[in-house]
Amino acid sequence: MSQLRRPDECGVPEATQFMHPVLKKNYGQWAYHDRPRPGVLRHVSNSGEQVFTVKAGTQRQMDVYTIRNLCDIADQFCDGYIRFTIRSAVEFMTPDEAKVQPLIDALEKAGYPVGGTGNSVGFISHTQGWLHCDIPGTDASGVVKSLMDELSEEFRNEEMPNRVKITTSCCQINCGGQGDIAINIQHTKPPVINHDLVAGVCERPAVIARCPVAAIRPALVNGKPTLEVDEKKCVCCGACYPPCPPMQINDPQNSKIAIWVGGKHSSTRSKPMFHKLVAAGIPNNAPRWPEAAEIVKSILGAYKKDARAWERMGEWIERIGWPRFFELTGLPFTKYHVDSWRGGRSNLNQSAHLHF
Ligand code: SF4
Ligand code: SF4
Repeated sequence: MSQLRRPDECGVPEATQFMHPVLKKNYGQWAYHDRPRPGVLRHVSNSGEQVFTVKAGTQRQMDVYTIRNLCDIADQFCDGYIRFTIRSAVEFMTPDEAKVQPLIDALEKAGYPVGGTGNSVGFISHTQGWLHCDIPGTDASGVVKSLMDELSEEFRNEEMPNRVKITTSCCQINCGGQGDIAINIQHTKPPVINHDLVAGVCERPAVIARCPVAAIRPALVNGKPTLEVDEKKCVCCGACYPPCPPMQINDPQNSKIAIWVGGKHSSTRSKPMFHKLVAAGIPNNAPRWPEAAEIVKSILGAYKKDARAWERMGEWIERIGWPRFFELTGLPFTKYHVDSWRGGRSNLNQSAHLHF
Protein backbone atom coordinates (compact mmCIF):
# COMPACT_ATOMS: atom_id res chain seq x y z
CA MET A 1 0.00 0.00 0.00
CA SER A 2 1.29 3.42 -0.91
CA GLN A 3 2.78 5.38 1.96
CA LEU A 4 2.22 8.69 0.18
CA ARG A 5 0.63 11.29 2.38
CA ARG A 6 -3.03 11.67 1.51
CA PRO A 7 -4.50 15.15 1.14
CA ASP A 8 -5.95 16.24 4.44
CA GLU A 9 -9.18 18.19 3.99
CA CYS A 10 -10.58 17.86 7.48
CA GLY A 11 -10.12 21.47 8.65
CA VAL A 12 -7.60 23.16 10.89
CA PRO A 13 -4.96 21.01 12.58
CA GLU A 14 -5.28 20.00 16.22
CA ALA A 15 -4.39 23.12 18.21
CA THR A 16 -2.56 21.86 21.31
CA GLN A 17 0.56 20.98 19.28
CA PHE A 18 1.13 24.72 18.75
CA MET A 19 0.49 25.81 22.35
CA HIS A 20 3.15 27.11 24.67
CA PRO A 21 4.14 24.19 27.00
CA VAL A 22 2.83 26.06 30.07
CA LEU A 23 -0.58 26.47 28.39
CA LYS A 24 -0.61 22.82 27.38
CA LYS A 25 0.34 21.62 30.84
CA ASN A 26 -2.42 23.65 32.51
CA TYR A 27 -5.10 23.17 29.88
CA GLY A 28 -8.52 23.40 31.58
CA GLN A 29 -6.87 24.07 34.95
CA TRP A 30 -6.91 27.84 35.13
CA ALA A 31 -7.90 29.36 38.48
CA TYR A 32 -8.31 32.97 37.35
CA HIS A 33 -6.94 35.66 35.06
CA ASP A 34 -6.45 39.41 35.35
CA ARG A 35 -5.03 42.33 33.37
CA PRO A 36 -1.88 43.81 34.93
CA ARG A 37 -1.95 46.62 32.31
CA PRO A 38 -3.71 47.33 29.01
CA GLY A 39 -2.61 44.82 26.39
CA VAL A 40 -1.39 42.24 28.93
CA LEU A 41 -3.30 39.28 30.39
CA ARG A 42 -2.07 37.06 33.22
CA HIS A 43 -3.54 33.57 33.60
CA VAL A 44 -2.86 31.72 36.87
CA SER A 45 -3.44 27.97 37.09
CA ASN A 46 -4.64 25.89 40.03
CA SER A 47 -1.02 24.77 40.53
CA GLY A 48 0.13 28.41 40.84
CA GLU A 49 1.91 28.51 37.45
CA GLN A 50 1.25 31.68 35.48
CA VAL A 51 1.52 32.76 31.89
CA PHE A 52 1.52 36.33 30.50
CA THR A 53 -0.07 37.15 27.15
CA VAL A 54 0.91 40.34 25.36
CA LYS A 55 -1.48 41.42 22.63
CA ALA A 56 -0.46 43.69 19.75
CA GLY A 57 -2.07 45.14 16.64
CA THR A 58 -0.81 44.49 13.12
CA GLN A 59 -1.49 46.16 9.78
CA ARG A 60 -4.14 43.44 9.19
CA GLN A 61 -3.06 42.15 5.75
CA MET A 62 0.41 40.78 6.45
CA ASP A 63 3.30 40.16 4.08
CA VAL A 64 5.88 37.47 4.70
CA TYR A 65 8.47 39.99 6.02
CA THR A 66 6.03 41.16 8.71
CA ILE A 67 5.31 37.59 9.77
CA ARG A 68 9.05 36.81 9.93
CA ASN A 69 9.56 39.93 12.01
CA LEU A 70 6.80 38.87 14.44
CA CYS A 71 8.24 35.34 14.62
CA ASP A 72 11.72 36.74 15.40
CA ILE A 73 10.21 38.64 18.34
CA ALA A 74 8.50 35.42 19.48
CA ASP A 75 11.82 33.54 19.23
CA GLN A 76 13.54 36.20 21.31
CA PHE A 77 10.98 36.53 24.12
CA CYS A 78 8.45 33.69 23.99
CA ASP A 79 10.30 30.43 23.22
CA GLY A 80 9.07 30.72 19.61
CA TYR A 81 5.34 30.64 20.45
CA ILE A 82 2.94 33.09 18.86
CA ARG A 83 -0.70 33.08 17.84
CA PHE A 84 -2.98 35.20 15.70
CA THR A 85 -6.49 36.05 16.86
CA ILE A 86 -9.51 35.83 14.55
CA ARG A 87 -9.24 39.60 14.11
CA SER A 88 -5.54 39.34 13.09
CA ALA A 89 -4.16 40.81 16.27
CA VAL A 90 -1.12 38.88 17.47
CA GLU A 91 -0.55 37.36 20.93
CA PHE A 92 2.77 36.42 22.53
CA MET A 93 2.82 34.13 25.57
CA THR A 94 5.58 33.83 28.18
CA PRO A 95 5.66 32.40 31.71
CA ASP A 96 8.54 34.76 32.59
CA GLU A 97 7.28 38.06 34.03
CA ALA A 98 10.71 39.66 33.54
CA LYS A 99 10.31 39.33 29.76
CA VAL A 100 6.96 41.15 29.55
CA GLN A 101 8.24 44.75 29.52
CA PRO A 102 11.17 44.04 27.12
CA LEU A 103 8.66 42.27 24.84
CA ILE A 104 6.30 45.27 24.93
CA ASP A 105 9.25 47.60 24.18
CA ALA A 106 10.34 45.43 21.23
CA LEU A 107 6.82 45.36 19.79
CA GLU A 108 6.28 49.10 20.14
CA LYS A 109 9.73 49.79 18.65
CA ALA A 110 8.87 47.62 15.64
CA GLY A 111 5.59 49.56 15.18
CA TYR A 112 3.06 47.14 16.67
CA PRO A 113 0.84 48.89 19.25
CA VAL A 114 0.18 46.89 22.41
CA GLY A 115 -3.43 46.89 23.64
CA GLY A 116 -6.82 45.51 22.70
CA THR A 117 -7.63 43.87 26.04
CA GLY A 118 -10.31 45.00 28.50
CA ASN A 119 -12.73 47.79 27.65
CA SER A 120 -10.96 49.05 24.56
CA VAL A 121 -11.68 49.27 20.85
CA GLY A 122 -10.55 45.78 19.84
CA PHE A 123 -8.97 45.02 16.51
CA ILE A 124 -11.45 45.75 13.71
CA SER A 125 -12.58 42.67 11.81
CA HIS A 126 -12.89 42.86 8.07
CA THR A 127 -14.07 40.55 5.35
CA GLN A 128 -11.53 39.17 2.93
CA GLY A 129 -11.77 41.93 0.35
CA TRP A 130 -10.07 42.27 -2.98
CA LEU A 131 -7.13 40.05 -2.05
CA HIS A 132 -9.29 36.92 -1.92
CA CYS A 133 -12.76 37.71 -3.22
CA ASP A 134 -14.21 38.63 -6.60
CA ILE A 135 -17.06 40.99 -5.63
CA PRO A 136 -15.85 43.65 -3.18
CA GLY A 137 -17.07 47.20 -3.62
CA THR A 138 -14.44 48.66 -1.29
CA ASP A 139 -11.10 47.71 0.21
CA ALA A 140 -12.22 46.55 3.65
CA SER A 141 -8.65 45.99 4.85
CA GLY A 142 -7.79 49.56 3.84
CA VAL A 143 -10.76 50.92 5.81
CA VAL A 144 -9.53 48.92 8.81
CA LYS A 145 -5.92 50.11 8.54
CA SER A 146 -6.87 53.77 8.20
CA LEU A 147 -9.45 53.58 11.02
CA MET A 148 -7.07 51.79 13.38
CA ASP A 149 -4.49 54.51 12.71
CA GLU A 150 -7.11 57.00 13.91
CA LEU A 151 -8.24 54.88 16.86
CA SER A 152 -4.92 53.47 18.02
CA GLU A 153 -5.14 55.29 21.38
CA GLU A 154 -8.50 53.61 22.02
CA PHE A 155 -6.78 50.28 21.26
CA ARG A 156 -3.87 51.00 23.62
CA ASN A 157 -6.03 52.21 26.51
CA GLU A 158 -8.99 50.69 28.32
CA GLU A 159 -11.22 53.74 28.56
CA MET A 160 -14.44 52.59 26.92
CA PRO A 161 -17.55 51.62 28.94
CA ASN A 162 -17.29 48.07 27.55
CA ARG A 163 -15.57 46.25 24.69
CA VAL A 164 -16.20 47.89 21.32
CA LYS A 165 -16.27 45.49 18.39
CA ILE A 166 -16.07 47.16 14.98
CA THR A 167 -16.62 45.25 11.75
CA THR A 168 -16.34 46.12 8.08
CA SER A 169 -17.80 44.47 5.01
CA CYS A 170 -16.83 45.08 1.40
CA CYS A 171 -20.12 43.95 -0.16
CA GLN A 172 -23.67 44.34 1.04
CA ILE A 173 -24.74 40.73 1.22
CA ASN A 174 -22.13 38.29 2.48
CA CYS A 175 -19.49 38.15 5.18
CA GLY A 176 -20.09 41.23 7.35
CA GLY A 177 -21.14 40.51 10.92
CA GLN A 178 -23.10 42.39 13.55
CA GLY A 179 -20.91 44.98 15.24
CA ASP A 180 -21.10 47.69 17.88
CA ILE A 181 -20.15 49.76 14.83
CA ALA A 182 -20.25 48.26 11.32
CA ILE A 183 -18.87 49.98 8.22
CA ASN A 184 -20.42 48.38 5.16
CA ILE A 185 -20.55 49.03 1.44
CA GLN A 186 -23.89 50.35 0.21
CA HIS A 187 -24.85 50.25 -3.48
CA THR A 188 -27.26 52.97 -4.54
CA LYS A 189 -27.90 52.18 -8.23
CA PRO A 190 -29.12 48.96 -9.92
CA PRO A 191 -26.56 46.82 -11.79
CA VAL A 192 -25.43 47.80 -15.30
CA ILE A 193 -25.75 44.75 -17.56
CA ASN A 194 -23.29 43.79 -20.31
CA HIS A 195 -25.79 41.92 -22.50
CA ASP A 196 -23.09 40.46 -24.77
CA LEU A 197 -21.64 38.39 -21.93
CA VAL A 198 -24.67 37.21 -19.93
CA ALA A 199 -25.56 34.14 -22.00
CA GLY A 200 -21.98 32.86 -22.04
CA VAL A 201 -21.18 33.48 -18.36
CA CYS A 202 -24.33 33.30 -16.24
CA GLU A 203 -26.71 30.52 -15.31
CA ARG A 204 -29.75 32.69 -15.86
CA PRO A 205 -32.40 30.77 -13.85
CA ALA A 206 -30.07 30.74 -10.83
CA VAL A 207 -29.53 34.51 -11.11
CA ILE A 208 -33.27 35.16 -11.38
CA ALA A 209 -33.93 32.99 -8.32
CA ARG A 210 -31.32 34.82 -6.33
CA CYS A 211 -32.93 38.26 -6.45
CA PRO A 212 -34.73 38.87 -3.11
CA VAL A 213 -37.39 41.10 -4.70
CA ALA A 214 -37.95 39.23 -7.99
CA ALA A 215 -36.66 42.17 -10.04
CA ILE A 216 -34.76 40.11 -12.64
CA ARG A 217 -36.41 38.49 -15.65
CA PRO A 218 -35.24 36.83 -18.89
CA ALA A 219 -34.83 39.07 -21.93
CA LEU A 220 -33.58 39.03 -25.51
CA VAL A 221 -31.21 41.84 -26.58
CA ASN A 222 -29.64 41.98 -30.07
CA GLY A 223 -30.92 38.46 -30.64
CA LYS A 224 -29.02 37.11 -27.62
CA PRO A 225 -30.64 35.66 -24.51
CA THR A 226 -29.87 37.83 -21.51
CA LEU A 227 -31.47 39.30 -18.36
CA GLU A 228 -33.10 42.59 -17.49
CA VAL A 229 -33.77 44.35 -14.20
CA ASP A 230 -36.98 46.07 -13.15
CA GLU A 231 -35.27 49.13 -11.65
CA LYS A 232 -38.39 50.18 -9.74
CA LYS A 233 -38.21 46.96 -7.73
CA CYS A 234 -34.42 46.63 -7.40
CA VAL A 235 -33.13 47.35 -3.89
CA CYS A 236 -29.49 47.54 -5.11
CA CYS A 237 -28.37 44.67 -2.88
CA GLY A 238 -25.77 43.32 -5.32
CA ALA A 239 -26.82 39.68 -4.87
CA CYS A 240 -27.01 39.14 -8.64
CA TYR A 241 -23.42 40.24 -9.23
CA PRO A 242 -21.55 37.22 -7.71
CA PRO A 243 -23.27 34.57 -9.87
CA CYS A 244 -23.40 36.91 -12.88
CA PRO A 245 -20.37 39.25 -13.13
CA PRO A 246 -21.75 40.93 -16.32
CA MET A 247 -24.36 42.48 -13.96
CA GLN A 248 -21.79 44.95 -12.61
CA ILE A 249 -23.04 46.89 -9.58
CA ASN A 250 -19.78 48.40 -8.28
CA ASP A 251 -19.45 51.99 -9.31
CA PRO A 252 -16.98 54.69 -8.22
CA GLN A 253 -19.74 57.29 -7.77
CA ASN A 254 -22.73 55.25 -6.64
CA SER A 255 -21.17 52.60 -4.39
CA LYS A 256 -21.12 54.31 -0.99
CA ILE A 257 -20.36 53.48 2.62
CA ALA A 258 -23.05 53.02 5.30
CA ILE A 259 -22.52 52.90 9.06
CA TRP A 260 -24.62 50.74 11.36
CA VAL A 261 -24.50 50.59 15.17
CA GLY A 262 -25.64 48.53 18.14
CA GLY A 263 -25.12 44.97 16.85
CA LYS A 264 -24.02 42.24 19.22
CA HIS A 265 -23.52 38.48 18.80
CA SER A 266 -23.17 37.52 22.45
CA SER A 267 -25.82 36.75 25.04
CA THR A 268 -23.86 38.36 27.86
CA ARG A 269 -25.80 40.98 29.89
CA SER A 270 -28.53 41.14 27.22
CA LYS A 271 -29.79 39.21 24.20
CA PRO A 272 -28.00 39.40 20.83
CA MET A 273 -29.01 42.45 18.78
CA PHE A 274 -29.09 43.45 15.12
CA HIS A 275 -27.24 46.62 14.25
CA LYS A 276 -29.22 49.55 12.76
CA LEU A 277 -28.38 52.05 10.04
CA VAL A 278 -27.27 55.48 11.31
CA ALA A 279 -25.38 57.04 8.39
CA ALA A 280 -25.81 56.42 4.66
CA GLY A 281 -24.33 57.69 1.39
CA ILE A 282 -20.85 58.30 2.85
CA PRO A 283 -18.19 58.60 0.09
CA ASN A 284 -16.21 55.41 -0.55
CA ASN A 285 -13.12 57.55 -0.36
CA ALA A 286 -9.91 55.48 -0.58
CA PRO A 287 -7.19 55.38 0.61
CA ARG A 288 -8.06 56.91 4.04
CA TRP A 289 -11.90 57.15 4.12
CA PRO A 290 -11.82 60.40 6.18
CA GLU A 291 -15.62 60.95 6.09
CA ALA A 292 -16.34 57.45 7.48
CA ALA A 293 -13.58 57.87 10.10
CA GLU A 294 -15.08 61.16 11.35
CA ILE A 295 -18.49 59.55 11.85
CA VAL A 296 -17.04 56.54 13.66
CA LYS A 297 -15.08 58.85 15.96
CA SER A 298 -18.15 60.96 16.77
CA ILE A 299 -20.15 57.81 17.64
CA LEU A 300 -17.31 56.48 19.82
CA GLY A 301 -16.89 59.87 21.52
CA ALA A 302 -20.59 60.06 22.45
CA TYR A 303 -20.61 56.45 23.68
CA LYS A 304 -17.47 56.92 25.75
CA LYS A 305 -18.86 60.05 27.39
CA ASP A 306 -22.46 59.03 27.97
CA ALA A 307 -22.69 55.24 28.43
CA ARG A 308 -22.71 53.67 31.88
CA ALA A 309 -20.01 51.22 32.93
CA TRP A 310 -20.35 47.88 31.08
CA GLU A 311 -23.09 49.04 28.70
CA ARG A 312 -22.45 47.80 25.15
CA MET A 313 -23.21 50.26 22.35
CA GLY A 314 -26.67 48.77 21.62
CA GLU A 315 -27.62 48.69 25.31
CA TRP A 316 -26.62 52.34 25.69
CA ILE A 317 -28.78 53.33 22.70
CA GLU A 318 -31.73 51.30 23.99
CA ARG A 319 -31.49 53.13 27.31
CA ILE A 320 -31.18 56.68 25.94
CA GLY A 321 -33.40 56.19 22.86
CA TRP A 322 -32.63 56.83 19.18
CA PRO A 323 -33.57 60.56 19.17
CA ARG A 324 -31.00 61.19 21.93
CA PHE A 325 -28.42 59.06 20.05
CA PHE A 326 -28.71 61.30 16.96
CA GLU A 327 -28.58 64.38 19.18
CA LEU A 328 -25.43 63.26 21.01
CA THR A 329 -23.56 62.10 17.91
CA GLY A 330 -24.62 65.06 15.77
CA LEU A 331 -25.61 62.72 12.92
CA PRO A 332 -28.58 63.84 10.80
CA PHE A 333 -31.70 61.66 10.78
CA THR A 334 -32.78 61.32 7.12
CA LYS A 335 -35.41 59.52 5.05
CA TYR A 336 -32.87 56.72 4.45
CA HIS A 337 -33.26 55.61 8.06
CA VAL A 338 -36.92 54.76 7.60
CA ASP A 339 -37.58 51.30 6.23
CA SER A 340 -40.81 52.01 4.43
CA TRP A 341 -40.65 49.19 1.92
CA ARG A 342 -44.07 47.64 2.30
CA GLY A 343 -43.20 44.30 0.72
CA GLY A 344 -40.37 43.62 3.15
CA ARG A 345 -42.37 41.92 5.85
CA SER A 346 -43.79 39.17 3.68
CA ASN A 347 -41.21 38.83 0.91
CA LEU A 348 -37.77 39.13 2.44
CA ASN A 349 -36.08 36.02 3.68
CA GLN A 350 -36.81 36.57 7.37
CA SER A 351 -38.47 33.34 8.44
CA ALA A 352 -36.84 30.35 10.09
CA HIS A 353 -38.52 27.91 7.65
CA LEU A 354 -36.22 25.73 5.61
CA HIS A 355 -36.80 25.39 1.87
CA PHE A 356 -35.71 22.24 0.04
S1 SF4 B 1 -17.97 40.86 2.28
FE1 SF4 B 1 -18.54 40.33 0.18
S2 SF4 B 1 -16.92 41.22 -1.11
FE2 SF4 B 1 -16.14 41.16 0.97
S3 SF4 B 1 -15.01 39.21 1.10
FE3 SF4 B 1 -17.12 38.82 1.82
S4 SF4 B 1 -18.24 38.11 -0.01
FE4 SF4 B 1 -16.33 39.11 -0.69
S1 SF4 C 1 -29.16 44.23 -7.13
FE1 SF4 C 1 -30.34 42.87 -5.79
S2 SF4 C 1 -32.43 43.62 -5.96
FE2 SF4 C 1 -31.29 44.50 -7.69
S3 SF4 C 1 -31.60 43.06 -9.35
FE3 SF4 C 1 -29.72 42.44 -8.36
S4 SF4 C 1 -30.36 40.89 -6.86
FE4 SF4 C 1 -32.22 42.00 -7.50
